[in-house]
Order: sequence, then C-alpha cells, then structure tokens
Amino acid sequence: MRYVIIGSGVAGIAAIEAMRSLDTAGEITLIGDDPYGFYSRPGLAYYLTGELHDKALFPRTADELRKLNFRYINKQVTKILRAEHTLELRDQSGVSYDRLLIAVGAQALPLEVPGADLEGVLKLDHMTDAKRILKQARRGRTAVVVGGGITALELVEGLRSRGVKVHYLLRGDRYWSNVLDKQESQIIERRLQAEGVTLHHHAEVIEVIGRNGKAGSVRLLDGQTLKCDLVAYAIGIHPRLDLAKQAGLAVDRGILVNEYLQTNDPDIFAAGDVAQAYDPLSGRSILDSLWTPARQQGYAAGLNMAGRQTAYLKSPPFNVTRLAGLTTTIIGTVGRGRDEDLVGIARGDSETWRQLPDSMVAQTGFDVNRLRLLVGEKTLLGAIVMGDQKLSRPLEKMISGNMDITPIREKLLTSNAKIADIVVEFWTGKQ
Ligand SMILES: Cc1cc2nc3c(=O)[nH]c(=O)nc-3n(C[C@H](O)[C@H](O)[C@H](O)COP(=O)(O)OP(=O)(O)OC[C@H]3O[C@@H](n4cnc5c(N)ncnc54)[C@H](O)[C@@H]3O)c2cc1C
Repeated sequence: MRYVIIGSGVAGIAAIEAMRSLDTAGEITLIGDDPYGFYSRPGLAYYLTGELHDKALFPRTADELRKLNFRYINKQVTKILRAEHTLELRDQSGVSYDRLLIAVGAQALPLEVPGADLEGVLKLDHMTDAKRILKQARRGRTAVVVGGGITALELVEGLRSRGVKVHYLLRGDRYWSNVLDKQESQIIERRLQAEGVTLHHHAEVIEVIGRNGKAGSVRLLDGQTLKCDLVAYAIGIHPRLDLAKQAGLAVDRGILVNEYLQTNDPDIFAAGDVAQAYDPLSGRSILDSLWTPARQQGYAAGLNMAGRQTAYLKSPPFNVTRLAGLTTTIIGTVGRGRDEDLVGIARGDSETWRQLPDSMVAQTGFDVNRLRLLVGEKTLLGAIVMGDQKLSRPLEKMISGNMDITPIREKLLTSNAKIADIVVEFWTGKQ
C-alpha cells in the first residue's frame, strides 16, 4: 500500500503515527511545503514574546520522526490527478498514491486594502512569518495591529514584549465580543492598557500608506491617520481548498468528509483545519480550527486509511489560551455567533443562547478570577474560566460527559450564587 499525505502539520504527522500502528510495511510519503516541517503553530505566540526558543517548538525529535519510517518531500503539491492516482509537484515531478490524505490546513485571510502588499505589512501563519515579525520588531518602533480574536492579541503581546509601541484597532466596541461577555472583554482591555497598548474602538483600516516603499502609516475609516513602522493583521482564516476544488472533490466551507474522514472519492481522505467533518452526534458537518481536533482527525484518518474503521467523534471544544497574560480556558459553548479565530468554539451556539437567556450565571471574585457557565436544561453546555484554573478540568469532564446537574441547577441560577463553590461541592461529591 502506498500512502501519501499532503501537509506536514499536526494532522499529517498524527496520520502517519496511526498508519504505522497498524501497518509497518506500507510505503508512506509525506509532502509538505513548509521549510520548517512540523512544529507547534500555537507555540509561535510564545516564540514572539521570547518565552520560547524556536527549538522548543518542535513536538517530535528527529529520531522519533525517523522511527516512523516515512519518506519526506519538502515541496508543494500543485495538482491531484484522481484518475491516475498521482500528484503533481511544483517542480513538475509526480508522486503516485493508493490512499491520499489532504491535510493542508488553513491560512490567514489577506488584508484587502490598498497598500497591503507593502513591506512591513505582516501576518502570523507560519514560522517564517514569526521570524519576519521578529526582524521588524525593535524597541522604539510603532506597530498597528488589526483583528479581533486570539491571534491578533498574540501579535499585540508579542510586539509589546519586544518594546514596540502598539496601536490595537478593534472594529467593534470591545475585544472578542463573539466569545467574551462585556465584563470579560473589559478585563482584557484594561490589562492591555496597563501594558501600554493604545486601543482604538470602531476603528477600521482602509489604506496602508507607504514611505520609501514600506508601511509608514494607516488611514482609518473615520479619516484619522496613524503613523507606524509596521502593520500586523489577523482577521480570520480560511481552509486551503484549491487542491480539492481543482480535483473536483466535494467542498463546502472545508473539504467535506464523512465520520471516517473520507471524501467523496473513497481513496482520498482529509483531516485537520482543511476538513469539514460530518459529526454523527449533531448530524452536522463541522469545520474546526484547533490543534487537538486536527490531531484527533489526522489519527482517525490514518487508522481508516490503513484499514481499520474508526469514526471521528467530535468532543466539545476545549481550548486553553492566554489573553493579555491571563490564562483563559474556553469549554464547549460560550459565545454567540461565529468566531473568526476559533470557529469550533462558537458555531451553532446562537440557538441555545437565545433560548436560555436567563441561564447565564457568572461569579466574579476579582478581575483575574472569573468563571462563567452556560447552564442547559439538565447539563452544563459551556464554561469560561479566567485566572485560577482549578475548575477547568472538572468542568471539562462535566460538559464533555453530559453530566446531569439537576441537583444543583436551581442553586446555580439563584442570583448572586457562588457558582464556583457550588460546582466544587458537586464535583467533589461525585468523586
Ligand atoms: C499563530 C497561531 C496560534 C494558534 N493558537 C492555537 C491555540 O492556542 N490553540 C489551538 O488549539 N489552536 C491554535 N492554532 C491553530 C492550530 O495551529 C491549527 O488548528 C493546527 O495547526 C491545524 O493543523 P493542520 O495539520 O490541520 O494544518 P497546518 O498546521 O496548517 O499544517 C498544514 C501544512 O500543510 C502545508 N501545505 C499547505 N498546502 C500545501 C501544498 N499544496 N503542498 C504541500 N504542503 C502544503 C502547510 O505549509 C502546512 O505546513 C493556532 C494557529 C496559529 C497560526
């Protein structure tokens, strides 16, 4: 059997690990165009702040990869020729497959304003981007950062920690309003201001103006101009669909796959950020853009390609992140509407949110310890934990396990209820 994987991200590597667990003889070829191979993309944020050395971003050692016994081609795939079961690479060479996995991920949406192609206009997708940002980020320089989600905030913090003066532009009236409530947004914004970040609400860039061929200022929708030395943006991502579209595979927002991660061509699978996987539990096809689902999907796809039928069952989103230095865990349903960065978190929430408007309960101790729960009829649907993380694992178990919370539901919904204490008492009683 000749297995070929396009994409050396976490989904691609997990697929190889799964294949090798079942098939030690098959021939595996990994084709990836990133010059740095497999590394932690979430780790790029910590590389920008200087907390992690780039060497710390590689989750597998060279020896571990060698043991997986695969051929690696560091090139770009330009075409899938389905009838011939062959791939065409950028240098016109060909690679044949019996089973193919497309794990090419997603990429940053471009900033589409005049001047966006000037030197000094930067995004954060790959290691190469992070290195480019670090080259430009010097004490005394000024940056404009555009975007309302986690990646934009990572850019703000990375640049601040390098001594760059930052203007942070938000389109709406507060930070990450799809996911955070007003108070949570305020907590983050206050912390950013304390770090010296200048916030601009209702601010939209309409042009990047050049100075000697480089970004020199931005013009905003309200007519204001801000002088800067660089512009960094993170305004959303989109799955890389070109290969699948050209090959005539079924696509929607991502490549459509069944619960076995198989496309409408039985010899071609897709996994990770590029895949829109059918979820048998909800009956919907879901696009995720998080590390853990990408790894799980890659692993399940690898098993299926090597002959074992394993359905991918999506678990509720669980994401630990750091917002303005504050550890924040987001579990299950917390937002309202679609989030541009963490699509998995907020999708499909709006129905629940509207039906249960008075079921949101929140307890705030002081501004760095905050817990918010979304209470369903019999179960908890979502939680956001900021600061003290003692409760995040128990809450994950309660939410992903659909634990019946009937005994504490009324208590949780009482006004001014000490929800953290109630959850602790309930959880301890269950152990
Ligand atoms: C800055 C940043 C911060 C993030 N933070 C978090 C976080 O805190 N938590 C979290 O859960 N997720 C986070 N993510 C998202 C997470 O990194 C992704 O969900 C995950 O990497 C997806 O893995 P993947 O294997 O599907 O795709 P990718 O990691 O995108 O890998 C796809 C690979 O395919 C290659 N490729 C594309 N096209 C071709 C082609 N035609 N030929 C050959 N190779 C090709 C690409 O170069 C890439 O190497 C973050 C992402 C970024 C960029």
